[in-house]
Amino acid sequence: MKTIVIGGGPAGLFAAFLLVERGNKVIVLDKGKRAEDRSEGERPDLLHGIGGAGLFSDGKLNYSPDIGTNLVEIIGREKTMSLIDEVEKRFTKMGVSAKEPDQQKVEEWMIKAAREGIRYIPARQAHIGSDKLPKVIRKLQRKLENMGTELRTQEEVVDINEGKVITKKGEIRYDKLLIAPGRSGAKWLEEIVRRLKINFIYNPIDIGVRVEVPAMVMEEVTRVNWDPKVYIRTPTYDDVIRTFCVSPHGYIVREGYKNFSLVNGHSRGDKRSDNTNFAFLIKVALTQPLENTNQYGEAIAFEATTIGGGRPIIQRLEDLLIGRRSTWERIGKSFVKPTLKDVTPGDIAMALPYRFVKDITEGLEKLNHLIRGVYSVQTLVYAPEIKFHGLRIMTDKFLQTNIKDIFVAGDGAGLSRGIVGAAASGILAAKGILGEKWE
Ligand SMILES: Cc1cc2nc3c(=O)[nH]c(=O)nc-3n(C[C@H](O)[C@H](O)[C@H](O)COP(=O)(O)OP(=O)(O)OC[C@H]3O[C@@H](n4cnc5c(N)ncnc54)[C@H](O)[C@@H]3O)c2cc1C
Repeated sequence: MKTIVIGGGPAGLFAAFLLVERGNKVIVLDKGKRAEDRSEGERPDLLHGIGGAGLFSDGKLNYSPDIGTNLVEIIGREKTMSLIDEVEKRFTKMGVSAKEPDQQKVEEWMIKAAREGIRYIPARQAHIGSDKLPKVIRKLQRKLENMGTELRTQEEVVDINEGKVITKKGEIRYDKLLIAPGRSGAKWLEEIVRRLKINFIYNPIDIGVRVEVPAMVMEEVTRVNWDPKVYIRTPTYDDVIRTFCVSPHGYIVREGYKNFSLVNGHSRGDKRSDNTNFAFLIKVALTQPLENTNQYGEAIAFEATTIGGGRPIIQRLEDLLIGRRSTWERIGKSFVKPTLKDVTPGDIAMALPYRFVKDITEGLEKLNHLIRGVYSVQTLVYAPEIKFHGLRIMTDKFLQTNIKDIFVAGDGAGLSRGIVGAAASGILAAKGILGEKWE
């Protein structure tokens, strides 16, 4: 049986691993380069190639069914956890081991959170580090090739047609097809699913800000969980706002898109700042008359970038709370020195809808009961941070679409939002391709 896998990110690679182990012929196609040929500074290399989007990230691995996966809705918690365990075993064999959090301390944080009406998610986490991740992926690449996987890089798939994949270099027949093109391939996938009449819905998006505080404020909790996940219900709108991608001693970065700019954040292995930053996000799902959450998110991102003169906005929390714009002079008075300067001091209340601003200020005030110091006049807030999750492709329990022999996995299909979730979905699709059944 010949399987073609589109995309050499975690979803595609973990699927290929299981398939080739079971003696199947596997060809992985990726529009980017081999892992060793990708360079961090180059734009297409950043998201494309073997290893996928996160190759140059600090590789935070969350081994939890509550984080970065939609599989629970498809196969339930128990089965999702068994896939996550499988991902962890494979990472462990590659020399990446999870730091066992101190269970007693985790429990203390959970109790403290519960008392404040906050949900603290006790995730087991591993942190590979940006210096080690490319090495781990090169090792995986070598192993896959030694087992017989064909990795064809710089081969972009343009279409899929009647049992054939059409690339810029020619056509390849398949028995089974796995499409795992990641978030960077989501727009292309949307065109394909519309043309092939594959069923989909729009995934919710996450809208909010990046918050930057002195690292000391978060140290007590980040020592227990490197990337603490906290869910808060906001009093006015009864929305859920959550922390995401906490970056201890990290840096905020600007992400430029065609029509707007967003912020993001990361911790670096080679350099530590005095600050910790985290995304503070509200999940937004839409029904009628507009189901297309991407269109809504893009409109907000465009508006925020317009008011920021082409850049994201930075504001001191104090200024946001009393309703005045920030200036560099006011930012300069904060004890928190911004790690991103390529921003415009301004007024986030002019950039984001009122509901989100209210959620953010109320959420920070509540979070302050758990982590004292986040709701301080010193705190810096950057906007907009938006996570687009594109379409959610509808599938059966083994990720096969309504078109026979076409399976999907990973972030691009709206099934995951992280390395472990993507890898778990790849393994599930591979099990489907192999014709496995759940007991
Ligand atoms: C800066 C950054 C930091 C991150 N940090 C973390 C982190 O610390 N922890 C975490 O869990 N997650 C992190 N992530 C997210 C994580 O990288 C993704 O969730 C994960 O890589 C998704 O895996 P995937 O296989 O679905 O897609 P991807 O990794 O995006 O891989 C998809 C691959 O498909 C290829 N492709 C797309 N279209 C085509 C086509 N038409 N033809 C051929 N090939 C195609 C692309 O070139 C790409 O290599 C980070 C992401 C970024 C960008």
